[in-house]
Amino acid sequence: MTDPTTMNAVSVANLTHAYNGRPALRGISFDVQNGEFFGILGPNGGGKSTTFRILATLVTPTSGRAFVCGHDVITERDAVRRQLGVAFQAPALDIKLTVRENLVHHGHLYGISGRDLHARIDAALESIGLRERDREMVETLSGGLRRRIELAKALMPEPTVLLLDEPTVGLDPLARDDFWELVQTLRARTGMTVLVTTHLLTEGTACDRIAILDNGQLVALDNPAALCAQINGEIVTLNGRGLPEHQKRLESTLGVRAERSGETLRFVVDDGAAFVAQVRELLGDAVESVSIARPTLSDVFREKTGHAFESNPEPVKD
Ligand code: ADP
Repeated sequence: MTDPTTMNAVSVANLTHAYNGRPALRGISFDVQNGEFFGILGPNGGGKSTTFRILATLVTPTSGRAFVCGHDVITERDAVRRQLGVAFQAPALDIKLTVRENLVHHGHLYGISGRDLHARIDAALESIGLRERDREMVETLSGGLRRRIELAKALMPEPTVLLLDEPTVGLDPLARDDFWELVQTLRARTGMTVLVTTHLLTEGTACDRIAILDNGQLVALDNPAALCAQINGEIVTLNGRGLPEHQKRLESTLGVRAERSGETLRFVVDDGAAFVAQVRELLGDAVESVSIARPTLSDVFREKTGHAFESNPEPVKD
């Protein structure tokens, strides 16, 4: 038996999953510490939702183990569920009901009723700042407020571990920021562990630690700053019409490797400013714009996988 005082909130070991023989997870392992704000980051198809569903006890892994607060997601489903608050990607609100009615129905699913139910609903609504709006129809609320109600549902069981699957999909940047601020406030107040999946690099940057998944594999695991610090040098991006025609000359003369995307060339170099000065000397006006930046998670992803982090742009609904 694991010692509960040293137990991780989540522990995943050699987890694999295949859908009809097609691998979606290829043996991933990571631990999430108690109270951590942990992100599973990856492009579409990386395996984030599959990992999420396994932790939420909705999908049985093909092999490997996963534990929530020391409980096995396969053999101790009920015990795992008692620790969890879960918000799924797909909206699960009845828009023709009021906020409170939605939460009442949700409570009934958990077997909560009577005074306890309304106390929990009041507490959850207080947490998300919607205590005074409980009698409003969900259909009259913005996408950002609806996501908050999903969060309130996840909070009603008073979870130790909050699982959020791409919770800000479809929200505009402002509503996204509001949502994360709220989650961070709640975590600070309750000490709960938060595990979130996201395909947005900016959201990954805000986590305490991230696991980066690509094509069902764990390609990096650490805090975002440490991951970025693993890449030595600076990222130089050059833009200009016809610039790619000069790629070979730049590479052979300056002894660097360029990556091309449209009219843009990208380099990882030790000293960005010195490099740009050399480029200008060689190419003059062919370069229309230049950026020199510290490595980001996008660069980390590229370094680890050999390809760019492609996330499909999504429609903003709110
Ligand atoms: P992500 O959440 O990172 O986009 P998923 O876990 O949804 O990744 O998907 C990983 C892989 O598994 C993808 O190739 C996807 O097409 C496949 N997949 C996901 N869900 C199913 C399913 N229910 N049936 C068949 N294949 C699936």
